[in-house]
Amino acid sequence: MVKYELLAEQLKIEGIVEDLEWVRPDVIHTEAIHRAHSPSYVETLEGGLWTKQEERQSGFPWSAELIHREKVIMEGTRMCAQWAAQGKVGLNIAGGTHHAYRDHAEGFCLLNDLAIAAYDLIDSGLERILIVDLDVHHGNGTAEIVGQDPRIFTFSMHGAKNYPMKKPPSTLDIALPDQTGDGDYLALLDDALNTIFTSFRPQVALFQCGVDVLVSDKLGRLSLSLQGCAQRDHMVFSACKDAGIGVACAMGGGYSKDVNTIVKAHTNTFRIARDVWT
Ligand SMILES: [Zn+2]
Repeated sequence: MVKYELLAEQLKIEGIVEDLEWVRPDVIHTEAIHRAHSPSYVETLEGGLWTKQEERQSGFPWSAELIHREKVIMEGTRMCAQWAAQGKVGLNIAGGTHHAYRDHAEGFCLLNDLAIAAYDLIDSGLERILIVDLDVHHGNGTAEIVGQDPRIFTFSMHGAKNYPMKKPPSTLDIALPDQTGDGDYLALLDDALNTIFTSFRPQVALFQCGVDVLVSDKLGRLSLSLQGCAQRDHMVFSACKDAGIGVACAMGGGYSKDVNTIVKAHTNTFRIARDVWT
């Protein structure tokens, strides 16, 4: 996708790459995938054994390159999460594939990097993982995979009328009306983060920071400004920093007509992360 190339370019131009460590991940181990996905599904995925309907539901035509790319993205978020476990910030230039279920692909998401990373952290001995999903679309796959697991708090704040129609319950869901703007959005987020950090006391956070919340987005139905979106990111990063925990980010969606707007919003996320952490 062109936005990822442009984002990498912009991060270099602004010198953000030099300030953050830049890593190219390998593919993720199958064992890590199996913590969040059924082995039979992974076999279907790897073997190109999708039915026509499964392929349609995924949003992609199957190819070996597609699966390879997805596994690299999974490893990226997994590595970011391990940095986060050390109190640092890690940002995946892609990822945030929150529509992938335990045993099927959906909405351009084949494997769920947030769920995989959360269970990888649990395997490393952590006990309280927070997933903050602020993409405009509900984190349906993550909610289904994690279910009622008390070790993982899933928080999704999304457009009430957006895809997906079926929204399995997160630990906390905030469904927003169409055209919600900066003021109401940020007040609700601030309130929710305060409650979560006080009651759940996460040891580490995973942040799906989709920028399809922007007013310019073709698919989102909310009305955040670029500045409001940046304030959103700052709020999440500051909450983590103040609580003394690290955070791993996965970029998520962004479908503004002008690709430069998308790149600007994602670049803001990287810049704010750097500024809060340095
Ligand atoms: Zn989205």
